[in-house]
Amino acid sequence: MVKVVCVLYKGGPAAQEESRLLGTTENKLGMEKYMKDNGHTFIVTDDKEGPNSVLHKEIVDADVVITTPFHPGYINAELIDKAPKLKLAITAGVGSDHVDLNKANERKITVAEVTGSNVVSVAEHVVMSILLLVRNYNVGHAQVYRNKEWYVADIAKNAFDLEGLTVGTIGAGRIGFRVLQRLKPFDCKELLYFDYQNLPSDAEKEVGARRVQDLDDFLSQCDVVTINAPLHEGTKGLMNKEKLSKMRKGSWLVNTARGAICVADDVADAVNSGHLRGYAGDVWDKQPAREDHPWRTMQGPGGPSGSSYGNGMVPHYSGTTISAQKRYAEGALEIFDNWINGKIQTPANIIVENGEYASKAYGQGRGK
Ligand code: NAD
Repeated sequence: MVKVVCVLYKGGPAAQEESRLLGTTENKLGMEKYMKDNGHTFIVTDDKEGPNSVLHKEIVDADVVITTPFHPGYINAELIDKAPKLKLAITAGVGSDHVDLNKANERKITVAEVTGSNVVSVAEHVVMSILLLVRNYNVGHAQVYRNKEWYVADIAKNAFDLEGLTVGTIGAGRIGFRVLQRLKPFDCKELLYFDYQNLPSDAEKEVGARRVQDLDDFLSQCDVVTINAPLHEGTKGLMNKEKLSKMRKGSWLVNTARGAICVADDVADAVNSGHLRGYAGDVWDKQPAREDHPWRTMQGPGGPSGSSYGNGMVPHYSGTTISAQKRYAEGALEIFDNWINGKIQTPANIIVENGEYASKAYGQGRGK
């Protein structure tokens, strides 16, 4: 019998209306009965910040922590030091950058995630965001819905077809590859990717994508850039003022990977000045995002006020659709059940184990 602390977002009335919202504090990843039947102590909370939070207080004698990237419990080195019994950190979803992985290695804590559980969900969101920006949806929607106007020219002056544009992904793993697959029928001028590794040649051929090995060169060739790489020491702050300046004037950037891959103020400056025609995404450097975060209010200079022109930001939800929740909830339970019963874990789910990084941490593979 062990103690498990689980950090999830609050569901409120939505969780009562929709029982398939498994990733909420109310529906507890569907794990409550399992935990009770097996005699485990199962603490579920959304209260995660600061020394007086439930997470910080309960983790001190916990064996396992479960958290989602959507409302991440930040398991930093200091918190790990406060949790001498901690042996397993499960991410119900994909992306375990909210855990200090070096510290987890030092302490030989296993970190595992539900690889592949929401990759289609995110890839669809990326394509939606690209279309929303390129076709200038926000300005049109604000006219009819908010402002009760009808001024087609104001929309059309910044609306384009995706056909004929060059789109590139930073990271061509599970999500990046699925984005390329979904973009193929749009007959873009070219699909590009920037990654450590080549796609397998059959995959490259299937999507008709070309690898560009130098990031500056890649950025300068794209009309649209989408980020689909993990957050790690090599990608933190990657898209800063200098890299943004390499992007084409009037291009678009979509980031559904992790907020901290971009420097928030530099992105806001690039959008507000019109160097970027728009930025969209659902991930923020710290979540929930602070009320005065510049990404909430940034807006391209070419758009009418009140239209959020060039701003495609939403809270972190692309990977937590109803469709995805079942997969990551079941996957998180499987990881816990494997661990408690000494069964072998699915290798692709392991981020760090026995003091070492598994290959998944570096994003191998484009499979499930
Ligand atoms: P993956 O491991 O299958 O693929 C990641 C790819 O990025 C790999 O091909 C890897 O080689 C490449 N990569 C790593 N570092 C790079 C760098 N510096 N430059 C270029 N390429 C680099 O992972 P995935 O399943 O495709 O997920 C990617 C990321 O998306 C996750 O790590 C997570 O942060 C994010 N994500 C977000 C959501 C969401 O809800 N918004 C959901 C799932 C995943």
